[in-house]
Amino acid sequence: MRPLKTFYVKTYGCQMNELDSEIMIGQLRTRGLTLIEEEEQADLLIFNTCSIRDLAERKVLGKLGLLGKNLHHRPYIGVTGCMANAKKQSLFQKLPHIDFVLGTNNIHDLNNVLDEVLAGGTQTLRTDDQFQFELDYAGAYRKDKVKAHVSIIRGCDKYCTYCVVPYTRGPEVSRHPDNILDECRQLVDNGYKEITLLGQNVNSYGKDKPEWSTLFHDLLYKIDAIPGLERVRFMTSHPVDISHELMLAIRDLRTLCEFVHFPLQAGSNRILKKMHRMYTVEQYLEKVSLLRSLVPNVALGTDIIVGFPTETEEDFQATYDQLKALEFSVAFLFTYSPRKGTPAMRWKDDVPEEVKEERHKRLISLQEEIVTKQRQTFLGQTVEVLVEAKNFKDDTLLKGRTRCWKNVLFHGDESLIGTLQKIHVHGYSHQTLLGDKL
Ligand code: SF4
Repeated sequence: MRPLKTFYVKTYGCQMNELDSEIMIGQLRTRGLTLIEEEEQADLLIFNTCSIRDLAERKVLGKLGLLGKNLHHRPYIGVTGCMANAKKQSLFQKLPHIDFVLGTNNIHDLNNVLDEVLAGGTQTLRTDDQFQFELDYAGAYRKDKVKAHVSIIRGCDKYCTYCVVPYTRGPEVSRHPDNILDECRQLVDNGYKEITLLGQNVNSYGKDKPEWSTLFHDLLYKIDAIPGLERVRFMTSHPVDISHELMLAIRDLRTLCEFVHFPLQAGSNRILKKMHRMYTVEQYLEKVSLLRSLVPNVALGTDIIVGFPTETEEDFQATYDQLKALEFSVAFLFTYSPRKGTPAMRWKDDVPEEVKEERHKRLISLQEEIVTKQRQTFLGQTVEVLVEAKNFKDDTLLKGRTRCWKNVLFHGDESLIGTLQKIHVHGYSHQTLLGDKL
């Protein structure tokens, strides 16, 4: 049997994957293994993968292929995450040197799977379609000591036509509110100041479990009552489920930050329908305007996809116009790439790559103009920052975020990490506000 003392985990993709990696690292450390940063020296390699973009998949497949060619170092290799669910058994055919494939709904079983691999020397596959088990969140290995992610719902029932998530993570399964509250209390007792509630669509929380009588906004009120907790964020949301009650919670709750990820995806009703987003531009705008009237200082983030099948210049212009008018403080701008197994694969990917790229660039430069204008409005203002860590590049600086998710850098002592500070903003660099502690 090959030795098994050390392990290395590489995480691709979203915050859900980051949290799943923290849980797996916790499980392996409990087993007595040591986490190391050097991939070449680890006895076990875990690749926690993402399937959202074709490029992300190709990158990890290329990496895994290369590992099979190294005859000197033969670690155990596990593939976890969305690609495990999307590709299942076929990964063993493509990559005969990998030892196990563990889907997003099976990470509770990591140590059992490892035992099977060690005992039998056989390749092991576990990829359930639906999430079912409460995980050992308390044992998760969290590097960050100020902010923590807390999973509240897994899976997605929305079936946007371009997205693999409903197929890789399965249907929506909410986590019991008592377990969520226990975990949040424990985190606060351990010194955490900020909690981000995670799910593919957090604002449909509780709809699958009417017997709990706890919808997303109800959960937020309960979490807000935890003494010592400073900030709550959530990610990500679907516009259809952004309710009036949620908007009131954002207005009224002490801890809930005034930042909402409100993914528009496209500004043309025809494209939105084809994406199966279940709202029109008019309905979206109505919600944004209600939220902005209730919470005037709210900042909004969004996602946009350009080059969706059949997108005309006119459709694109409608998206451009909405991006300009809505003035989001953060926009994640993507070009469309077809994903195997999604309904959109039925349609020809008919917008030429160079047109997609050109439209993408136009959106990026528009968004840059908007954000630069927004940054200027902060000059001379005082903002409240939760101090998160030393700055990576210059450790005489500390970094933190405002409630509206703006990055701020300022000079200060590391004893301030984990505290709220008033910062006077006097400048900005590319993505960041610069200031002085008052
Ligand atoms: S809401 Fe749509 S884009 Fe978001 S995870 Fe669900 S299917 Fe994917």
